[in-house]
Amino acid sequence: MRMFDGDTLVLASHNKGKLREIAELLTPFGIKVISAGDLGFEEPDETEDSFVGNARIKAHFAAKESGLPALSDDSGIMVDALGGAPGVYTADWAETPNGRDFPMAMKKVWDKLEAINAPEPRTARFCCTLCLAWPDGHDEIFEGTVEGRLVWPMRGDLGFGFDPIFLPDGETETFGEMDPAKKQGMSHRADAFRKLVSGPFKDLSK
Ligand code: IMP
Repeated sequence: MRMFDGDTLVLASHNKGKLREIAELLTPFGIKVISAGDLGFEEPDETEDSFVGNARIKAHFAAKESGLPALSDDSGIMVDALGGAPGVYTADWAETPNGRDFPMAMKKVWDKLEAINAPEPRTARFCCTLCLAWPDGHDEIFEGTVEGRLVWPMRGDLGFGFDPIFLPDGETETFGEMDPAKKQGMSHRADAFRKLVSGPFKDLSK
């Protein structure tokens, strides 16, 4: 396991919700964070069919372009009754000619569940893969999940993406209703981040 011993990290994401959450998770470590968008980098095409594959594409691209270590996040929601869809294609399901439309994507998922009369609870999990890559091509991978079920109608306007229809196990509020600090303690991203923190970030002061 390679340790992170720099003082600056590039966040290889253009997704505002992810950037906010990852920057917050990184705050205690005193690392200077720059986003790939701030550096003027394009978003590389996510051509792989796995979270790990796409996380690698994003982190290696940003590390090579910047000459600095880069951290990417590839994530999505897997719905059991839909055979794990939309999964790695979660963002694609929200694409429209005018940008991403998540209420439309959530309705698409719910309509598909209704069409097959999927039994309740309609179990699902958020998955997150973090890739920490260095300019020399080395990387470290960390994976996290959070289990829950889908609810309808959408509830809450906090968070981002599919948060309004995801009810984590043991909770009464969706991620869209939940205090963001509470989501940060239990999300798939937090689960993956804990592994990063006990690995490459272990020597950094908190
Ligand atoms: P990508 O990793 O950029 O391909 O996009 C993953 C998509 O999964 C996001 O655009 C969100 O729709 C969804 N997603 C990932 N993490 C979360 C989360 O924490 N809350 C809600 N939706 C999420």
